[in-house]
Amino acid sequence: MTKIMPVINPRTGKADYEIKAWDDGDISALAESFRANQMAWITLGIAGRCKAILKLADALEANAQSVMDALEVDTGRRILARAEVMGVIANIRAWASFAPALMPKLDWVQGRAKPNFKHKNAYVPYGLVGIISPWNFPITLSFIDAIPALLAGGCVFVKPSEITPRFADALEPIIKAAGMKDYFAFTQGGGETGAALIDNVDCICFTGSVQTGKKVAIRAAENLIPANLELGGKDPLIITEDADLDTATTLALRASVLATGQACQSIERVYVPSSIYEAFVTQLAEKSKAVSLNYPDIDKGHIGPFIFGQQADKVAEQIQDAVRKGARILSGGTILDHGGGKWLEPTVIADVSHEMDIMCEETFGPVIPVMGYETVEQAIALANDTEFGLSGGVFAADIEAAMAIGEHIEAGAISLMDAALTGQYFEAGKQSFKNSGLGGSRMGQNGFLRFFRQKAYIANTTSPLTMDDFKE
Ligand code: NAD
Repeated sequence: MTKIMPVINPRTGKADYEIKAWDDGDISALAESFRANQMAWITLGIAGRCKAILKLADALEANAQSVMDALEVDTGRRILARAEVMGVIANIRAWASFAPALMPKLDWVQGRAKPNFKHKNAYVPYGLVGIISPWNFPITLSFIDAIPALLAGGCVFVKPSEITPRFADALEPIIKAAGMKDYFAFTQGGGETGAALIDNVDCICFTGSVQTGKKVAIRAAENLIPANLELGGKDPLIITEDADLDTATTLALRASVLATGQACQSIERVYVPSSIYEAFVTQLAEKSKAVSLNYPDIDKGHIGPFIFGQQADKVAEQIQDAVRKGARILSGGTILDHGGGKWLEPTVIADVSHEMDIMCEETFGPVIPVMGYETVEQAIALANDTEFGLSGGVFAADIEAAMAIGEHIEAGAISLMDAALTGQYFEAGKQSFKNSGLGGSRMGQNGFLRFFRQKAYIANTTSPLTMDDFKE
C-alpha cells in the first residue's frame, strides 16, 4: 500500500503538503529502466554529457522561480532559497567547464619491473549512483554529488529528505524538459525509501547525521557497494590574543548563526584567551542582538525558523543542560513560537565547559558557546576533544599564525582568518576526519574520479609463459 507522508511547513508548524513514499518495487523498477538507458548516456561521451547537463542548467535557470518558491516553503527562508538554486546552476556550469580536463590520460604504459608487458587503463563509471540528502540545504546537497556522478557517465537517483521534499517535485518537469529524465530522477520518501535505494544502486553518496550515516554504511557493506558519507560536525573556532577583536566577534557571529546555524560547517564552539574573554563575549552578545528573525515578513530579517521542529527541542535541551551546569546566557536562549513555527534568536553562552552537551554534541542551531583558554596548546587540545572532524577555523594576527595553529586541528578543512569557508568555497579537496565522514573528497578532482572504477588492460608483448616455465 502506498505510504502517504505529511510534510510540515516550518513557518506555520502545519502539515500543508504530502508525498507518496517510494517503496522497494518503485525503486527497483526505475533502477531497471535506468540500467537499460545507461549505455546511451555513456555513449554520449564526456563532451555530450557536458552539453546535456548544460541544458539542464539552462532549463533550471528558465524555471528557477518555481523551484525557489518550493524551496522557500521547504526551508522557511527566501534569500538562501534563491542562493541555493542560483548556486546549483553555477555549480553545473562550473563542473561542465572543467570535468573534461579531469579525465586521466589513457595511453599505453611500458612495464618498468617487467618491460615485456604494457598496460593501459580505462575508467568505467558506476552504472547507478544513489544520493541521499538532508533537509538543511536541500537542493545544494542533492546536486553536489549528482553533477559529477552524471558527468562521469552514471545514471543518478536522488532521495531528498522527507522534511523538505517540495523542491524535488518542482524539479521534475524541468528535468523532463531538459531531456534528462532517462538518466536522472528524484524519488520521495523517508528512511525506508533511502534503505531501498541503497539496495538498488552501485554506489551511494549520503549527507546527513552520524547516526543515519552508520546505518547507511552497514547497508552499503551488506550490498558491497562503496559509501561516501558526509556527516555531522562540531566545528571549533580558535581566536588568538593578538587577533582583531572587532573582526573576530563579527565573523564568529556570522559563521555560527547564518542559516539559523543549520549548516554542517557552522561554528559550534569558540575558544578565546581568558585575557580577552569578557570583552569578547560582551561584544559578541551585543552584536548578536542586532540579528533579527525573518518573521513575520520573510523578506525582512536575517535568520529563518528551524526547518525541522524537533531540532528546536534538541537545541533547547542542550541550552538547559548548559544552564544547569553553570553557563551564562548572554543573548537569546529561549525557543520562540511565532505563528506555529519554532525560532531562536542568536544565543551567546558564556562560562561553558566540555562537561556540557552544548560543547560536545552537534547543536545545529544559532547558538555560540564561548570558552576561555590559557595557552594555545590548551585551545588546540580543546578543539580536538571531540568525536567529530569536519572542519574548523582559526582567527589570529595573520594567515601564517593561523596556519601554525590550524595544522594541529584534527579536521578535514580549516578556515584561516575567517570561519566556515567550506560553505563559500568549493574547490579545495577535503576529507572528513573521525566520525564526520568516510570516503574520498567530494570536492576537486577526486569528487569526479570517485564515480569511476579503474579498469586495466594488460598486454604481453612477448610469448605467453607455459607451464614448463614453472617446473621445479
Ligand atoms: P538524517 O541523517 O536524519 O537524514 C538524512 C537523510 O537520510 C534523509 O534523506 C533521510 O530520509 C535519510 N534516511 C533516514 N534513515 C535512513 C536509512 N535508514 N537509510 C537510508 N537513508 C535514511 O540527517 P538530517 O537531519 O536530514 O540532516 C542533518 C545532518 O546532516 C546534520 O548532522 C548535519 O551535520 C549533516 N550534514 C552534513 C553535511 C556534510 O557535508 N558533512 C552537510 C549538511 C548536513
